[in-house]
Amino acid sequence: LTKQKAEKVVGWAKNHLLSSCLLPSIKGGRLYLPRECLEIAILRLQDQETASRKPTQNLKNLAKDEYESNFVSAVVPPGEIGVRFDDIGALEDVKKALNELVILPMRRPELFSRGNLLRPCKGILLFGPPGTGKTLLAKALATEAGANFISITGSTLTSKWFGDAEKLTKALFSFASKLAPVIIFVDEVDSLLGARGGAFEHEATRRMRNEFMSAWDGLRSKESQRILILGATNRPFDLDDAVIRRLPRRIYVDLPDAENRMKILRIFLGHENLEADFQYYELANVTEGYSGSDLKNLCIAAAYRPVQELLEDETKRGQNDAAPVLRPLTLEDFIQSKSKVGPSVAYDAASMNELRKWNEQYGEGG
Ligand code: ADP
Repeated sequence: LTKQKAEKVVGWAKNHLLSSCLLPSIKGGRLYLPRECLEIAILRLQDQETASRKPTQNLKNLAKDEYESNFVSAVVPPGEIGVRFDDIGALEDVKKALNELVILPMRRPELFSRGNLLRPCKGILLFGPPGTGKTLLAKALATEAGANFISITGSTLTSKWFGDAEKLTKALFSFASKLAPVIIFVDEVDSLLGARGGAFEHEATRRMRNEFMSAWDGLRSKESQRILILGATNRPFDLDDAVIRRLPRRIYVDLPDAENRMKILRIFLGHENLEADFQYYELANVTEGYSGSDLKNLCIAAAYRPVQELLEDETKRGQNDAAPVLRPLTLEDFIQSKSKVGPSVAYDAASMNELRKWNEQYGEGG
């Protein structure tokens, strides 16, 4: 890193990273940067740089009016997403299903143009507990399918003036049709298109939902065939029938079992300095209930321990090493970190039961 870039990284990290174990520090004129912090910061800076280099001019030219222009900065071209299927541990069945349902039709539309049987699917739902990789899958899918990626949430369409929600929704679809192949990722789809709010639902929200559904139904042209609505939710039971019907493939992204936790851990720890014969199997066994995201947080916490020890040692000795060498990570680092990073408590047994029941009734896989 150049000095200028290092300062940018530190500045970014201080503004954006909440967890103190990720924060950089400067001691005795030296900069200490947890590896995770560095990686995240560099990625974000790259994002910012690519965003400024992005051929926004082309996208801008595509946008017909101010409503379509609202989505220009939300589009990420496939080459710039930066996540592939290989970066996702486990979930092989889900990747396989998505390959058939999405990647093939987007990459080889000519194979799907005859008859009705092999029509590409226009709506897919990924559902499951939080932190299981649904968003990651959506991004990787766009990369693998060579599709543009637009991510929206409820507030993308409703944070504007109420009257605008309907026009914005229409613009989203008209703009997307110019970007095909494209994946429109609707995170927390239940909050955008959840069960009707009854008497308390705002008239504008109701109209926006109706507009969304009818624009979705209207995707019939040849290029529109390469527009996919990919919804994700932790609460599929909040979706009403009209939405469920439009998401004919509903894929359960479950918490990983021990074998799959091992695969995910290998992704996170593959390039780390681990003790010889590191017991992945043991670690996978003692992390029952952890999601992929929990496992990542556990790994970050564990990776910080050797750094902490080194800093403490330097403080004791009153001097900083010119070329500090961190000791390898041990299984014990992870076991000790479990008290700090447990499985997400938000997903209790009752919610898991509800999800499994919904999967039996409406879903596939898991
Ligand atoms: P969700 O959308 O299901 O709530 P995310 O996709 O946002 O979960 O996952 C959060 C983070 O957890 C990801 O950015 C990634 O670092 C990690 N993660 C979760 N599942 C996996 C997995 N199967 N393989 C690799 N990383 C994962």
